[in-house]
Amino acid sequence: MRVAVVGGGSIGLAVAWRAALAGAEVVVHDPEPGSGASRVAAGMIAPVTESHYGEAALTPFMAASADAWPAFARELETASGLPVGFRDIPTVVVGVEDGDRAEVERQTALYRETGRGVEVLAGRAIRKAEPLLSHRVRAGVLATEDRAVDPRAVHAALLVAAERAGVRFAGGEVKTGRAAAGQVEGTEARAGEVVDLGALDADQVVIAAGCGSAGFGLPVRPVRGVVLRLRAAAGQAVPRTTVRGYVNGQSVYIVTRENGEVVVGATSDERGFDRTTGTAGAVHDLLRWSIALVPEIAEYHLGEVTVGFRPGTPDNLPIIGPLAPGLIAATGHYRNGIALIPATADAVAAVLRGNAPALIAPFDPGRLDLGRLDLGKSGPVGARPAAPGIEGGREPRRAANPSAPESTVPDGSDSASEREET
Ligand SMILES: Cc1cc2nc3c(=O)[nH]c(=O)nc-3n(C[C@H](O)[C@H](O)[C@H](O)COP(=O)(O)OP(=O)(O)OC[C@H]3O[C@@H](n4cnc5c(N)ncnc54)[C@H](O)[C@@H]3O)c2cc1C
Repeated sequence: MRVAVVGGGSIGLAVAWRAALAGAEVVVHDPEPGSGASRVAAGMIAPVTESHYGEAALTPFMAASADAWPAFARELETASGLPVGFRDIPTVVVGVEDGDRAEVERQTALYRETGRGVEVLAGRAIRKAEPLLSHRVRAGVLATEDRAVDPRAVHAALLVAAERAGVRFAGGEVKTGRAAAGQVEGTEARAGEVVDLGALDADQVVIAAGCGSAGFGLPVRPVRGVVLRLRAAAGQAVPRTTVRGYVNGQSVYIVTRENGEVVVGATSDERGFDRTTGTAGAVHDLLRWSIALVPEIAEYHLGEVTVGFRPGTPDNLPIIGPLAPGLIAATGHYRNGIALIPATADAVAAVLRGNAPALIAPFDPGRLDLGRLDLGKSGPVGARPAAPGIEGGREPRRAANPSAPESTVPDGSDSASEREET
């Protein structure tokens, strides 16, 4: 079977790797693999502390993926020879003011509904779990089964593992002057960028383009987030847990890597693909809130400010499953695309075998209005007949790869000048 994967973020690469291991001939199409949200993510694998009201349909899938992560990480490290930074450490959730503590209590009821490890800790016990918490924190919750991984390391390992399994990466041809679909006349699609699904020569096409999936008419929108990457000097104390909390009603998280990197995140707003406004305020807020929870953060070196875009959907659930004969969606993972890598890759592998697992039934593309799905101007993908009920039509195309994050390195960091990583 020949499989084309559109998008080389973590989801696309994991799907490609799994499909290649199952014997498929796989080509990944992406102008810049790893330039999307997968590069920005903090890396929490949080089936408990990422549970939200109205998203109960996600709970079993999050649980399955979290449970699959330890073995997935080991397999990926073996296949690539690279570390992925998986950390088997719990998460503490705390509040500073009275209202924040009440919010933690409210969340705890929701956390318990996941059926996973949740312990309420007071006074000394919470500080024993996380000694770096501010003295203003008097109680909290320990989510014993939430974990974390380093998403950049995961992506790098997936690239190697996929290549070793025989996955090829399309250089693609540079297409010029496409006026179609609102693309500005004369702009170029970059090598590897797919503008026309119908032009792909494959038996099965998997759309795993994150926010770029909107270019094919899928209802995916960018939800902007700013994260900070800080670094502790050798010998400086770092949190031993992932710390999440509320400060004056605002939520913040602190994820620590074994190598001393400390990620503080994240803002969340909807301004399209705007990377240039409001970042100063975001840095100010994230530092203020995180320092209120863990004062030691003020002593770290601020290395990077990164803006990224979560691929959100109308109901906040991912879009995974068959779209039409020969066309499969694996996108819209919103806040949880790193946590959901193993379960998504396994589910898509099963769909490719013609056997969609019950676990992904809530994420069936059919639940959404797909009237604008764009199957491509060159006709159906492979020998695929047009799917009933899915019409053509195209969203205005964005410039190539608009979801790529922007990172800046403040003065005084190892990298002397400000840089943009897109
Ligand atoms: C601030 C922030 C913090 C986050 N923290 C977490 C976290 O702690 N835990 C967690 O689980 N998730 C987290 N996420 C969410 C997670 O990052 C995403 O859900 C996940 O990375 C989505 O992966 P993806 O591969 O679908 O998309 P992406 O990583 O965005 O990759 C999409 C790829 O598709 C390519 N592409 C786009 N259009 C085309 C096209 N037309 N042709 C070819 N290629 C194309 C792009 O170049 C890109 O490489 C966070 C996200 C943000 C922004």
